[in-house]
Amino acid sequence: MEERTTAFHEERCDLCGLCLNMCPVMALPLDEAKSEFKVLMEGKESSYALRLCNSCMSCNLYCPREANPYQLILERWNDLYKKRGAPPLYKFVCPTEEPNIWQLINIFLSDTEKEWISEWMNYVPKPDDTVFLVGNYTHLFPFIIGGSGLLDYFKPIDRIDQWEGGAYLYQGGYLDIVREIAKRSREDFDGWGVKDVVIPTDAVHHIFSKVHPEEMGVSYKQNFIAFHTWLLNKIESGEISLPEAPLNMTVTIHDNCYSKVINGIYWDEPREILTQCGCEIAEMAHIREDALCCGFGAGASWVRNISIPFDIIWEGTKKFKEAEETGADALVSYCSGCIYLLWAARELLESNIDVYHIIEVVRMAMGEKINYPDDHVTRAWDIIAIINYQLLISLFQKNFFLKKITYDKTMSTFRPGNYPLLRLIRWILENQLARKLYARIFRMLMKVMKTR
Ligand code: SF4
Ligand code: SF4
Repeated sequence: MEERTTAFHEERCDLCGLCLNMCPVMALPLDEAKSEFKVLMEGKESSYALRLCNSCMSCNLYCPREANPYQLILERWNDLYKKRGAPPLYKFVCPTEEPNIWQLINIFLSDTEKEWISEWMNYVPKPDDTVFLVGNYTHLFPFIIGGSGLLDYFKPIDRIDQWEGGAYLYQGGYLDIVREIAKRSREDFDGWGVKDVVIPTDAVHHIFSKVHPEEMGVSYKQNFIAFHTWLLNKIESGEISLPEAPLNMTVTIHDNCYSKVINGIYWDEPREILTQCGCEIAEMAHIREDALCCGFGAGASWVRNISIPFDIIWEGTKKFKEAEETGADALVSYCSGCIYLLWAARELLESNIDVYHIIEVVRMAMGEKINYPDDHVTRAWDIIAIINYQLLISLFQKNFFLKKITYDKTMSTFRPGNYPLLRLIRWILENQLARKLYARIFRMLMKVMKTR
Protein backbone atom coordinates (compact mmCIF):
# COMPACT_ATOMS: atom_id res chain seq x y z
CA MET A 1 0.00 0.00 0.00
CA GLU A 2 1.34 3.49 0.69
CA GLU A 3 2.03 4.21 -3.00
CA ARG A 4 2.21 7.84 -4.00
CA THR A 5 -0.88 8.67 -6.03
CA THR A 6 -1.22 11.45 -8.54
CA ALA A 7 -3.96 13.86 -7.67
CA PHE A 8 -4.50 15.00 -11.26
CA HIS A 9 -7.78 13.55 -12.57
CA GLU A 10 -7.06 12.96 -16.23
CA GLU A 11 -10.45 11.33 -16.78
CA ARG A 12 -12.22 14.56 -15.77
CA CYS A 13 -10.25 16.86 -18.07
CA ASP A 14 -11.92 17.84 -21.38
CA LEU A 15 -8.95 20.02 -22.45
CA CYS A 16 -11.01 23.22 -22.21
CA GLY A 17 -7.80 25.19 -21.49
CA LEU A 18 -9.41 27.43 -18.86
CA CYS A 19 -6.73 26.64 -16.28
CA LEU A 20 -3.87 28.15 -18.29
CA ASN A 21 -6.11 30.81 -19.84
CA MET A 22 -7.16 32.18 -16.42
CA CYS A 23 -3.70 31.64 -14.88
CA PRO A 24 -2.67 35.03 -13.37
CA VAL A 25 0.92 34.50 -14.54
CA MET A 26 0.61 33.05 -18.06
CA ALA A 27 -2.93 34.08 -19.11
CA LEU A 28 -2.50 32.15 -22.38
CA PRO A 29 -4.99 32.77 -25.21
CA LEU A 30 -7.55 29.97 -25.07
CA ASP A 31 -6.30 28.07 -28.13
CA GLU A 32 -2.73 28.17 -26.91
CA ALA A 33 -3.87 27.18 -23.41
CA LYS A 34 -5.64 24.12 -24.82
CA SER A 35 -2.64 22.96 -26.82
CA GLU A 36 -0.22 23.66 -23.96
CA PHE A 37 -2.32 21.61 -21.57
CA LYS A 38 -2.52 18.76 -24.10
CA VAL A 39 1.27 18.81 -24.37
CA LEU A 40 1.51 18.59 -20.58
CA MET A 41 -0.88 15.65 -20.48
CA GLU A 42 1.10 13.82 -23.12
CA GLY A 43 4.36 14.47 -21.28
CA LYS A 44 5.89 16.26 -24.27
CA GLU A 45 8.07 19.35 -24.16
CA SER A 46 6.12 22.28 -22.72
CA SER A 47 6.54 25.81 -24.09
CA TYR A 48 5.18 27.74 -21.13
CA ALA A 49 3.89 26.00 -18.04
CA LEU A 50 7.03 24.24 -16.83
CA ARG A 51 9.17 27.38 -17.14
CA LEU A 52 6.66 30.07 -16.12
CA CYS A 53 4.34 28.54 -13.52
CA ASN A 54 4.70 30.16 -10.09
CA SER A 55 3.21 27.21 -8.27
CA CYS A 56 0.45 29.54 -7.03
CA MET A 57 -2.27 26.82 -7.09
CA SER A 58 -4.98 29.10 -8.54
CA CYS A 59 -5.68 26.87 -11.56
CA ASN A 60 -7.15 24.14 -9.37
CA LEU A 61 -9.84 26.64 -8.41
CA TYR A 62 -10.39 27.75 -12.01
CA CYS A 63 -10.89 24.25 -13.40
CA PRO A 64 -14.66 23.73 -13.84
CA ARG A 65 -14.24 19.95 -13.74
CA GLU A 66 -12.12 19.75 -10.57
CA ALA A 67 -9.38 17.90 -12.43
CA ASN A 68 -6.54 19.48 -10.37
CA PRO A 69 -4.39 20.79 -13.24
CA TYR A 70 -1.77 22.10 -10.81
CA GLN A 71 -0.98 18.54 -9.76
CA LEU A 72 -0.23 17.65 -13.40
CA ILE A 73 2.39 20.41 -13.47
CA LEU A 74 3.89 19.00 -10.25
CA GLU A 75 4.07 15.55 -11.85
CA ARG A 76 5.87 16.97 -14.87
CA TRP A 77 8.35 18.85 -12.69
CA ASN A 78 8.91 15.61 -10.78
CA ASP A 79 9.75 13.93 -14.13
CA LEU A 80 12.17 16.78 -14.89
CA TYR A 81 13.83 16.43 -11.47
CA LYS A 82 14.43 12.72 -12.14
CA LYS A 83 16.18 13.67 -15.40
CA ARG A 84 18.18 16.78 -14.52
CA GLY A 85 18.25 16.97 -10.70
CA ALA A 86 17.74 20.12 -8.66
CA PRO A 87 19.68 23.35 -9.30
CA PRO A 88 22.69 23.80 -6.98
CA LEU A 89 21.18 26.93 -5.42
CA TYR A 90 18.34 24.75 -4.13
CA LYS A 91 20.73 23.32 -1.52
CA PHE A 92 20.03 26.60 0.23
CA VAL A 93 16.64 25.28 1.42
CA CYS A 94 17.66 21.66 1.99
CA PRO A 95 18.66 21.13 5.63
CA THR A 96 20.54 17.92 4.82
CA GLU A 97 22.73 19.58 2.18
CA GLU A 98 25.67 21.78 3.06
CA PRO A 99 25.81 24.67 3.43
CA ASN A 100 22.15 25.54 3.87
CA ILE A 101 20.38 28.60 5.17
CA TRP A 102 19.84 27.14 8.67
CA GLN A 103 23.52 26.41 9.00
CA LEU A 104 24.52 29.86 7.80
CA ILE A 105 21.93 31.83 9.77
CA ASN A 106 23.65 30.62 12.98
CA ILE A 107 26.31 33.26 12.34
CA PHE A 108 23.73 36.03 12.62
CA LEU A 109 21.28 34.85 15.31
CA SER A 110 21.31 36.77 18.60
CA ASP A 111 22.06 34.89 21.83
CA THR A 112 18.40 35.09 22.82
CA GLU A 113 17.34 33.61 19.47
CA LYS A 114 19.84 30.80 19.89
CA GLU A 115 18.44 30.03 23.34
CA TRP A 116 14.88 29.83 22.02
CA ILE A 117 15.91 27.63 19.13
CA SER A 118 18.00 25.34 21.29
CA GLU A 119 15.03 24.82 23.61
CA TRP A 120 12.65 24.14 20.70
CA MET A 121 15.05 21.74 19.00
CA ASN A 122 16.04 19.73 22.03
CA TYR A 123 12.76 19.24 23.83
CA VAL A 124 11.35 15.75 23.32
CA PRO A 125 7.54 15.91 23.49
CA LYS A 126 5.56 13.81 25.96
CA PRO A 127 2.25 12.13 25.04
CA ASP A 128 0.10 14.74 26.83
CA ASP A 129 1.82 17.73 25.27
CA THR A 130 0.10 19.93 22.75
CA VAL A 131 2.88 20.42 20.28
CA PHE A 132 3.39 23.67 18.34
CA LEU A 133 5.43 23.01 15.20
CA VAL A 134 7.63 26.10 14.93
CA GLY A 135 8.78 25.17 11.43
CA ASN A 136 11.83 25.69 9.26
CA TYR A 137 11.01 29.22 8.24
CA THR A 138 10.18 30.65 11.66
CA HIS A 139 13.51 29.16 12.76
CA LEU A 140 15.13 31.84 10.57
CA PHE A 141 13.38 34.71 12.38
CA PRO A 142 12.35 33.29 15.75
CA PHE A 143 11.80 36.80 17.12
CA ILE A 144 8.31 36.87 15.57
CA ILE A 145 7.05 34.50 18.31
CA GLY A 146 9.93 33.78 20.72
CA GLY A 147 9.17 35.02 24.22
CA SER A 148 5.49 35.62 23.39
CA GLY A 149 2.65 34.66 25.74
CA LEU A 150 1.16 32.85 22.74
CA LEU A 151 3.66 30.04 23.30
CA ASP A 152 2.49 29.48 26.89
CA TYR A 153 -0.30 27.31 25.54
CA PHE A 154 2.01 24.79 23.84
CA LYS A 155 5.29 22.95 23.74
CA PRO A 156 7.11 24.57 20.82
CA ILE A 157 9.04 22.05 18.75
CA ASP A 158 11.53 22.80 16.00
CA ARG A 159 12.71 19.88 13.86
CA ILE A 160 14.26 21.29 10.69
CA ASP A 161 14.66 17.86 9.14
CA GLN A 162 10.88 17.53 9.11
CA TRP A 163 11.18 19.97 6.18
CA GLU A 164 7.84 21.66 6.99
CA GLY A 165 6.32 18.29 6.05
CA GLY A 166 7.87 18.80 2.60
CA ALA A 167 5.57 21.76 1.83
CA TYR A 168 8.09 23.68 -0.24
CA LEU A 169 9.49 20.57 -1.92
CA TYR A 170 5.95 19.65 -2.95
CA GLN A 171 5.60 22.99 -4.71
CA GLY A 172 8.72 22.30 -6.71
CA GLY A 173 7.40 18.90 -7.78
CA TYR A 174 9.86 16.85 -5.67
CA LEU A 175 7.01 14.47 -4.96
CA ASP A 176 8.88 11.24 -4.22
CA ILE A 177 10.94 13.03 -1.58
CA VAL A 178 7.81 14.46 0.03
CA ARG A 179 6.55 10.91 0.47
CA GLU A 180 9.74 9.94 2.29
CA ILE A 181 9.42 13.03 4.51
CA ALA A 182 5.82 12.04 5.28
CA LYS A 183 6.90 8.58 6.47
CA ARG A 184 9.68 10.09 8.57
CA SER A 185 7.37 12.68 10.14
CA ARG A 186 4.88 9.98 11.09
CA GLU A 187 7.65 8.12 12.88
CA ASP A 188 8.45 11.31 14.82
CA PHE A 189 4.86 11.97 15.87
CA ASP A 190 4.16 8.35 16.78
CA GLY A 191 7.46 8.12 18.65
CA TRP A 192 6.46 11.13 20.76
CA GLY A 193 2.97 9.69 21.22
CA VAL A 194 1.36 13.14 20.96
CA LYS A 195 -2.29 13.62 19.99
CA ASP A 196 -2.64 17.33 19.21
CA VAL A 197 -0.30 19.17 16.88
CA VAL A 198 -0.85 22.90 16.31
CA ILE A 199 0.59 24.18 13.05
CA PRO A 200 1.16 27.90 12.51
CA THR A 201 1.74 27.72 8.74
CA ASP A 202 -1.30 26.78 6.65
CA ALA A 203 0.89 25.17 4.01
CA VAL A 204 2.23 22.72 6.57
CA HIS A 205 -1.22 22.12 8.04
CA HIS A 206 -2.53 21.22 4.58
CA ILE A 207 0.45 19.01 3.83
CA PHE A 208 0.02 16.95 7.01
CA SER A 209 -3.76 16.80 6.99
CA LYS A 210 -4.43 16.34 3.25
CA VAL A 211 -1.41 15.85 0.97
CA HIS A 212 0.32 13.13 2.98
CA PRO A 213 -2.76 10.97 3.52
CA GLU A 214 -4.47 11.59 0.15
CA GLU A 215 -1.55 11.91 -2.27
CA MET A 216 1.32 10.15 -0.51
CA GLY A 217 -0.59 7.32 1.15
CA VAL A 218 0.72 8.27 4.60
CA SER A 219 -1.98 8.76 7.26
CA TYR A 220 -1.59 9.94 10.85
CA LYS A 221 -3.24 9.30 14.20
CA GLN A 222 -2.66 12.89 15.26
CA ASN A 223 -5.13 15.76 15.28
CA PHE A 224 -3.67 18.63 13.26
CA ILE A 225 -4.97 22.03 14.34
CA ALA A 226 -4.53 25.14 12.17
CA PHE A 227 -3.09 27.90 14.35
CA HIS A 228 -5.35 30.64 12.94
CA THR A 229 -8.44 28.61 13.84
CA TRP A 230 -7.07 28.12 17.35
CA LEU A 231 -6.10 31.79 17.68
CA LEU A 232 -9.42 33.18 16.48
CA ASN A 233 -11.28 30.93 18.94
CA LYS A 234 -9.11 32.15 21.81
CA ILE A 235 -9.61 35.80 20.82
CA GLU A 236 -13.37 35.42 20.41
CA SER A 237 -13.72 33.59 23.71
CA GLY A 238 -11.75 36.36 25.45
CA GLU A 239 -9.06 33.96 26.65
CA ILE A 240 -6.54 35.96 24.66
CA SER A 241 -7.24 39.64 25.19
CA LEU A 242 -6.17 42.46 22.92
CA PRO A 243 -5.88 45.51 25.19
CA GLU A 244 -4.07 47.58 22.58
CA ALA A 245 -6.80 47.09 19.94
CA PRO A 246 -7.76 48.97 17.86
CA LEU A 247 -4.30 49.30 16.37
CA ASN A 248 -5.62 51.82 13.84
CA MET A 249 -3.52 50.44 11.00
CA THR A 250 -4.65 49.97 7.45
CA VAL A 251 -3.31 46.66 6.22
CA THR A 252 -3.40 44.69 3.02
CA ILE A 253 -3.26 40.90 3.19
CA HIS A 254 -1.07 38.55 1.20
CA ASP A 255 -2.96 35.33 0.46
CA ASN A 256 -0.30 32.67 0.05
CA CYS A 257 -0.46 29.88 -2.52
CA TYR A 258 -1.46 27.16 -0.04
CA SER A 259 -4.34 29.31 1.20
CA LYS A 260 -6.09 28.41 -2.07
CA VAL A 261 -6.38 24.71 -1.34
CA ILE A 262 -9.79 23.20 -0.62
CA ASN A 263 -11.56 26.30 -1.93
CA GLY A 264 -9.77 28.73 0.32
CA ILE A 265 -10.51 27.42 3.82
CA TYR A 266 -7.59 29.50 5.12
CA TRP A 267 -8.68 32.93 3.74
CA ASP A 268 -11.21 34.25 6.22
CA GLU A 269 -9.68 33.60 9.63
CA PRO A 270 -6.62 35.84 9.16
CA ARG A 271 -8.92 38.64 7.98
CA GLU A 272 -11.13 38.20 11.04
CA ILE A 273 -8.10 38.12 13.36
CA LEU A 274 -6.78 41.37 11.86
CA THR A 275 -10.21 42.97 12.19
CA GLN A 276 -10.30 41.96 15.87
CA CYS A 277 -6.92 43.68 16.24
CA GLY A 278 -8.53 46.86 14.97
CA CYS A 279 -6.95 46.90 11.53
CA GLU A 280 -8.77 48.27 8.54
CA ILE A 281 -8.30 45.98 5.54
CA ALA A 282 -7.55 47.38 2.09
CA GLU A 283 -7.58 44.53 -0.38
CA MET A 284 -5.20 44.21 -3.33
CA ALA A 285 -6.40 43.82 -6.92
CA HIS A 286 -5.63 40.08 -6.83
CA ILE A 287 -6.72 38.27 -3.69
CA ARG A 288 -7.96 34.86 -2.60
CA GLU A 289 -8.26 32.56 -5.67
CA ASP A 290 -6.51 35.13 -7.88
CA ALA A 291 -3.77 36.13 -5.42
CA LEU A 292 -0.30 36.58 -6.85
CA CYS A 293 2.63 34.63 -5.46
CA CYS A 294 5.12 36.41 -3.14
CA GLY A 295 7.68 35.43 -5.78
CA PHE A 296 9.13 32.38 -4.07
CA GLY A 297 7.19 30.02 -6.36
CA ALA A 298 9.10 31.30 -9.38
CA GLY A 299 11.99 29.13 -8.18
CA ALA A 300 9.87 26.04 -8.86
CA SER A 301 9.91 26.64 -12.63
CA TRP A 302 13.64 27.38 -12.73
CA VAL A 303 15.41 27.49 -16.06
CA ARG A 304 18.92 28.69 -15.12
CA ASN A 305 20.43 28.36 -11.65
CA ILE A 306 21.87 31.88 -11.73
CA SER A 307 18.54 33.44 -12.66
CA ILE A 308 16.54 32.00 -9.75
CA PRO A 309 16.87 34.96 -7.32
CA PHE A 310 16.14 37.44 -10.11
CA ASP A 311 13.04 35.51 -11.24
CA ILE A 312 11.81 35.36 -7.66
CA ILE A 313 12.18 39.07 -6.95
CA TRP A 314 10.76 39.91 -10.40
CA GLU A 315 7.55 38.10 -9.46
CA GLY A 316 7.64 39.68 -6.00
CA THR A 317 7.73 43.11 -7.65
CA LYS A 318 4.16 42.57 -8.88
CA LYS A 319 3.00 41.80 -5.36
CA PHE A 320 4.63 44.94 -3.94
CA LYS A 321 3.15 47.10 -6.70
CA GLU A 322 -0.35 45.86 -5.85
CA ALA A 323 0.22 46.23 -2.13
CA GLU A 324 1.49 49.81 -2.50
CA GLU A 325 -1.45 50.72 -4.74
CA THR A 326 -3.87 49.98 -1.87
CA GLY A 327 -2.37 52.84 0.14
CA ALA A 328 -2.17 50.53 3.19
CA ASP A 329 0.37 51.15 5.96
CA ALA A 330 1.41 47.53 5.98
CA LEU A 331 1.41 44.32 4.02
CA VAL A 332 0.58 41.39 6.31
CA SER A 333 1.46 37.78 5.54
CA TYR A 334 -0.03 34.86 7.43
CA CYS A 335 2.55 32.48 5.96
CA SER A 336 6.06 32.14 7.40
CA GLY A 337 7.33 30.84 4.07
CA CYS A 338 6.45 34.10 2.31
CA ILE A 339 7.41 36.58 4.99
CA TYR A 340 11.19 36.37 4.79
CA LEU A 341 11.06 36.62 1.02
CA LEU A 342 8.80 39.68 1.37
CA TRP A 343 11.21 41.30 3.84
CA ALA A 344 14.12 40.72 1.46
CA ALA A 345 12.09 41.98 -1.52
CA ARG A 346 11.10 45.12 0.43
CA GLU A 347 14.78 45.97 0.87
CA LEU A 348 15.76 45.17 -2.72
CA LEU A 349 12.82 47.10 -4.15
CA GLU A 350 13.28 49.93 -1.60
CA SER A 351 9.57 49.84 -0.85
CA ASN A 352 8.15 51.99 1.94
CA ILE A 353 5.28 49.71 2.87
CA ASP A 354 5.76 47.92 6.21
CA VAL A 355 5.70 44.12 6.14
CA TYR A 356 4.49 42.16 9.18
CA HIS A 357 3.76 38.55 9.99
CA ILE A 358 0.20 38.26 11.33
CA ILE A 359 1.58 36.89 14.63
CA GLU A 360 3.39 40.19 15.14
CA VAL A 361 0.20 42.20 14.59
CA VAL A 362 -1.62 40.06 17.17
CA ARG A 363 1.25 40.47 19.61
CA MET A 364 1.11 44.25 19.21
CA ALA A 365 -2.63 44.15 19.93
CA MET A 366 -1.88 41.98 22.99
CA GLY A 367 0.46 44.69 24.24
CA GLU A 368 3.68 42.78 23.52
CA LYS A 369 6.67 44.68 22.23
CA ILE A 370 7.87 44.16 18.66
CA ASN A 371 11.22 45.54 17.59
CA TYR A 372 9.92 46.66 14.21
CA PRO A 373 11.53 47.39 11.78
CA ASP A 374 15.06 46.92 13.14
CA ASP A 375 14.97 43.13 13.62
CA HIS A 376 13.28 42.65 10.26
CA VAL A 377 15.60 44.85 8.22
CA THR A 378 18.65 43.26 9.84
CA ARG A 379 17.40 39.75 9.18
CA ALA A 380 16.41 40.65 5.61
CA TRP A 381 20.01 41.69 4.92
CA ASP A 382 21.32 38.56 6.69
CA ILE A 383 19.23 36.52 4.28
CA ILE A 384 20.22 38.58 1.23
CA ALA A 385 23.90 38.05 2.18
CA ILE A 386 23.33 34.29 2.53
CA ILE A 387 21.56 34.07 -0.84
CA ASN A 388 24.45 35.97 -2.47
CA TYR A 389 26.96 33.67 -0.87
CA GLN A 390 25.10 30.54 -1.93
CA LEU A 391 24.61 31.88 -5.43
CA LEU A 392 28.35 32.52 -5.74
CA ILE A 393 29.36 29.05 -4.58
CA SER A 394 26.62 27.42 -6.65
CA LEU A 395 28.34 28.73 -9.79
CA PHE A 396 30.96 26.04 -9.20
CA GLN A 397 28.51 23.24 -8.42
CA LYS A 398 26.42 20.88 -10.50
CA ASN A 399 22.76 19.94 -10.30
CA PHE A 400 22.17 17.47 -7.51
CA PHE A 401 19.82 14.73 -6.31
CA LEU A 402 18.66 14.67 -2.73
CA LYS A 403 20.11 11.55 -1.11
CA LYS A 404 19.08 11.97 2.50
CA ILE A 405 16.22 13.63 4.31
CA THR A 406 17.28 12.94 7.89
CA TYR A 407 20.32 14.18 9.78
CA ASP A 408 22.97 11.63 10.46
CA LYS A 409 26.21 11.72 12.42
CA THR A 410 28.15 13.20 9.52
CA MET A 411 25.95 16.26 9.21
CA SER A 412 27.48 19.42 10.51
CA THR A 413 24.40 21.60 10.12
CA PHE A 414 24.71 22.99 13.60
CA ARG A 415 28.47 23.11 13.85
CA PRO A 416 29.42 26.76 13.56
CA GLY A 417 31.65 27.43 10.57
CA ASN A 418 33.76 30.47 9.76
CA TYR A 419 32.51 31.33 6.29
CA PRO A 420 34.81 34.35 5.79
CA LEU A 421 33.33 35.20 2.38
CA LEU A 422 29.81 35.29 3.80
CA ARG A 423 30.96 37.43 6.72
CA LEU A 424 32.63 39.83 4.28
CA ILE A 425 29.48 40.13 2.15
CA ARG A 426 27.40 40.77 5.26
CA TRP A 427 29.90 43.30 6.58
CA ILE A 428 29.71 45.26 3.31
CA LEU A 429 25.92 45.13 3.43
CA GLU A 430 25.96 46.70 6.90
CA ASN A 431 26.64 50.02 5.24
CA GLN A 432 23.54 52.01 4.19
CA LEU A 433 25.16 53.32 1.04
CA ALA A 434 26.29 49.82 0.04
CA ARG A 435 22.72 48.56 0.56
CA LYS A 436 21.29 51.25 -1.70
CA LEU A 437 23.90 50.58 -4.35
CA TYR A 438 23.39 46.83 -4.10
CA ALA A 439 19.60 47.18 -4.40
CA ARG A 440 19.96 49.33 -7.53
CA ILE A 441 22.45 46.97 -9.17
CA PHE A 442 20.22 44.02 -8.31
CA ARG A 443 17.22 45.69 -9.96
CA MET A 444 19.24 46.53 -13.07
CA LEU A 445 20.57 42.98 -13.32
CA MET A 446 17.10 41.60 -12.72
CA LYS A 447 15.90 43.04 -16.03
CA VAL A 448 18.52 41.13 -18.00
CA MET A 449 18.87 38.01 -15.87
CA LYS A 450 15.21 37.05 -15.36
CA THR A 451 13.95 34.24 -17.53
CA ARG A 452 10.30 35.28 -17.70
S1 SF4 B 1 -0.20 27.08 -10.37
FE1 SF4 B 1 -0.63 29.26 -10.71
S2 SF4 B 1 1.00 29.96 -12.05
FE2 SF4 B 1 0.95 27.73 -12.18
S3 SF4 B 1 -0.39 27.26 -13.92
FE3 SF4 B 1 -1.64 27.19 -12.08
S4 SF4 B 1 -2.50 29.29 -11.95
FE4 SF4 B 1 -0.75 29.39 -13.33
S1 SF4 C 1 -7.57 20.72 -16.15
FE1 SF4 C 1 -9.61 21.58 -16.02
S2 SF4 C 1 -9.43 23.70 -16.73
FE2 SF4 C 1 -7.56 22.61 -17.37
S3 SF4 C 1 -7.96 21.89 -19.43
FE3 SF4 C 1 -8.58 20.22 -18.06
S4 SF4 C 1 -10.75 20.54 -17.63
FE4 SF4 C 1 -9.98 22.45 -18.51
